[in-house]
Amino acid sequence: MTETSWVAAWAPADGTARVTAAFAEHFGGAPDGVWSAPGRINVIGEHTDYNGGLCMPAALPHRTYVALRTRSADDGLPRSAVRLASAQEAGGDVVTVDLADVGPGRPGGWTAYVVGVAWALREAGHDVAGFDAVVDSCVPYGAGLSSSAALECSVAVALDEVHGLGLGDDAGRAVLAEACIRAENGVAGAATGGMDQAASLRCREGHALLLDCRDGSTRHIPLDLESHGLALLVIDTRAEHQLADGQYASRRAACERAAAHLGVATLREVTELDAALAALATLPDAEVVGRRVRHVVTDNARVREVERLLDAGDVEAVGPVLTAAHASLRDDYEVSCRELDVAVDAATAAGALGGRMIGGGFGGSAIALVLRDDVDAVAGAVAGAFAREGLAEPRFLVATAAGPAGRS
Ligand code: ADP
Ligand code: MG
Repeated sequence: MTETSWVAAWAPADGTARVTAAFAEHFGGAPDGVWSAPGRINVIGEHTDYNGGLCMPAALPHRTYVALRTRSADDGLPRSAVRLASAQEAGGDVVTVDLADVGPGRPGGWTAYVVGVAWALREAGHDVAGFDAVVDSCVPYGAGLSSSAALECSVAVALDEVHGLGLGDDAGRAVLAEACIRAENGVAGAATGGMDQAASLRCREGHALLLDCRDGSTRHIPLDLESHGLALLVIDTRAEHQLADGQYASRRAACERAAAHLGVATLREVTELDAALAALATLPDAEVVGRRVRHVVTDNARVREVERLLDAGDVEAVGPVLTAAHASLRDDYEVSCRELDVAVDAATAAGALGGRMIGGGFGGSAIALVLRDDVDAVAGAVAGAFAREGLAEPRFLVATAAGPAGRS
């Protein structure tokens, strides 16, 4: 069997120890605390978030850790100064940013995801000052597992606590999620629909989060893989295609155009698919737009189906729904790529109950629902298929429904 590489989740105590030690090295002394936030998978409901639709993410056990200390009056720096270091960036060197200089598009680079959160909270009227922080993470970057939201959300819960903003309950966390989304859209300049931040801040251990993006309401759905002898295998294809940003924007634009043509606020309002497709027939690109709409409408329905199956404890039956979602993303929404198709096809051929690409597409990760005892065999089969197809070696993670952002 082909060798497989695995990305293990750190034990929380290890993540905490790493950032605490690095904090002492960079800034001296102890942080006010250590906070962490998870990356996520998405069980079902893809490209639905910006269409006011439904999705069902779950938190990974893989987390981003931040050790943070608020600026003290006697350290000789302006109250709005932020000093940051990440083990994943610039060799861990310290970068300094003044909160007064943060705004749309500023600063560039990874620090935008951190100071953008402070900026967005300040814009929302919260008294947030400068700080020193050290970041370290076992969430893979750019793998569609939302390392960006894990970073934002770890910082958001830290700032909430050190400034006593009182945003720790679920309603408060919805406010923190908004600040994180603003940071990512407005400061980092990355398009994001809001699922990632809600997953990281508002999920619950042992559960997937049914998120209704029309009104932000949530419901915790039991996702008990263990007692069913099941596991969710995550396949990080390591593929990152340059197209991704432009294609995301064009899919989003097509959906908005379709909604406008149908006279609805978002595609969530489309309940009669055939009638909608007939009404769209006058568009010059009706065939393509119709397929985009069909994906969104059928994927919302698949979220409801998975909700029903999980509520009934019929976890195995979720598998084929995932595979159907993959076909819809591949054929109707056209956001898959060769690596993702090989991953899903090889996993299902090797006995996975079902699987699909997750995230924006054109690279990133896929998930496969597999019998616990088959995890290694399915991963080996996927790695073997990648090798035969001449693709870069994939990496694997095991997803469990972990807990939300919080103090570590
Ligand atoms: P994804 O969220 O799917 O992992 P993104 O492109 O949205 O991919 O976010 C990745 C970016 O987020 C990185 O390029 C970096 O700028 C920032 N980032 C994420 N995690 C960290 C981290 N631990 N330290 C520094 N920057 C990070
Ligand atoms: Mg991201």
